[in-house]
Amino acid sequence: MPLIDQTAVELLAMLQAGDVTSVELTQAYLDRIEQIDHQVKAFLRVDPNAALERAEEIDRRRKAGKPLGRLAGLPVAIKDLLCTAGEPTTCASKMLENFRPPYDATVVAKLKAADAVLIGKTNMDEFAMGGSNENSAFFPTRNPWDLSRIPGGSSGGAAACVAARMAPLSLGTDTGGSIRCPAGLCGVTGLKPTYGRVSRYGLVAFASSLDQVGPMAQTAEDAALLLEVLAGHDPKDSTSVDLPVPKYSETIRKPLENLRIGLVREHFGEGLDGEVEAAVREAVKVYESLGAKVVELSLPHGKYAVATYYVIAPCEASSNLARYDGVHYGHRTDEKKMAAELEAQRRHWQDASGTRQKHWQAASGTHEELKNQDNALIRMYRRSRAEGFGAEVKRRIMLGTYALSAGYYDAYYKKALQVRRLIRGDFDRAFAEVDLLVGPVTPTPAYKIGEKVDDPLSMYLFDLYTVSTNLAGIGGMSIPCGFSQAGLPIGLHLQAPPFEEERLLRGAFMFQQATDWHARKPGGFYE
Ligand code: GLN
Repeated sequence: MPLIDQTAVELLAMLQAGDVTSVELTQAYLDRIEQIDHQVKAFLRVDPNAALERAEEIDRRRKAGKPLGRLAGLPVAIKDLLCTAGEPTTCASKMLENFRPPYDATVVAKLKAADAVLIGKTNMDEFAMGGSNENSAFFPTRNPWDLSRIPGGSSGGAAACVAARMAPLSLGTDTGGSIRCPAGLCGVTGLKPTYGRVSRYGLVAFASSLDQVGPMAQTAEDAALLLEVLAGHDPKDSTSVDLPVPKYSETIRKPLENLRIGLVREHFGEGLDGEVEAAVREAVKVYESLGAKVVELSLPHGKYAVATYYVIAPCEASSNLARYDGVHYGHRTDEKKMAAELEAQRRHWQDASGTRQKHWQAASGTHEELKNQDNALIRMYRRSRAEGFGAEVKRRIMLGTYALSAGYYDAYYKKALQVRRLIRGDFDRAFAEVDLLVGPVTPTPAYKIGEKVDDPLSMYLFDLYTVSTNLAGIGGMSIPCGFSQAGLPIGLHLQAPPFEEERLLRGAFMFQQATDWHARKPGGFYE
């Protein structure tokens, strides 16, 4: 079997046994990236020299018998909204095109401390807003199973690079489904931990009460290993929780006994593609054959989840993204050009007759702007933000600013928080009855690039099954459970009570022991 097809656990064993060096392994992945990433476009940035240097250093330390970290010598890819000290961290936005953070995100520091080799930064929807990767300011990533289709988002690059064997492991983030949705659509394993399980320090904020970092991998076993490295309390993130981190990579082998599985009635209704439903129902049968009892239940407030999410997430985003003003952070407009344009406008107004001035003002609606014409600072903010942010990010900032404004706050934001509480209550009741909830990750397999770009609402509905996990703050996972007729991967969604990542992983491992969906790899351009 080619080196790059092995799982992370297998590769680590080979590295430890001296069957392969980190330089050889890193080079194999770099070659793979070189060969196929011009088609998949999973990476925004790869620095082969830095990766090889690091691999060499780890090989040297291994040879000298020095103690090494858990991931010693293994390449890992990182979603480009996690800060890497001194290296570009763009969030796939023009706004941060030239941003080099002065520090590492805690998860990045943990990978370095575990002696992983950081192989590159992966593409995403701008500021993680989106579910298709089409909102990247640079280029869309393509689904390795069908290059005309989306890989899902927002961690689309992170999922695609693992699916296409350009990295054995990657870090994604999930605010409303951004790890699970691309994992499902690309046929890899992805885990969104409980809110507070993994530090968010150095994760560029989208919606602070929802964002979490998590592992993406070929198998649950690999995800367990990576989560073990990432999880734990961080004094730099006040929302991270001070609980011991279980030995996920060991406990994962213990099957769940007397497993009770819940199927959410509402998740098998309108909008669910027949092939996805069939694959999910087959997966449930696999669990039954492993001894699980299946219960149907209801999450009555689930029908409000998408609406609630699309109030809360944009509100928090509008506040988080206020910092990008071209002064503190982010792209700054060309001020010389701005001054020249201002001067040309002023001359135009001076030359114009009174009627023309009035007419022009009314037609262009720039009365406010005329008042501010001498306020260069406000002009600069406006232009910088207008140039730096893409359409979807602007849409969210506007939605959020509106919902937070005086007079609307109670009707939208506060109401959304109340519904959020009810959604969490539904889960608490469900988990009194069952151990795991099982269902579809997305309503359909991957759609075509461009198919939904003009219809944001239908894109938002794609998050139907995933957003409530984040609203409730619990953990969720996507594992491969089949393929459509067209050969597109289908994901199975597992959800567990807070801080029960162990249960998710054990449940996923049981399934992967009994099936081989996770071991399939995309063909076509592959060989
Ligand atoms: N697709 C969802 C959105 O657009 C979720 C994104 C995410 O989890 N970062 O907001």
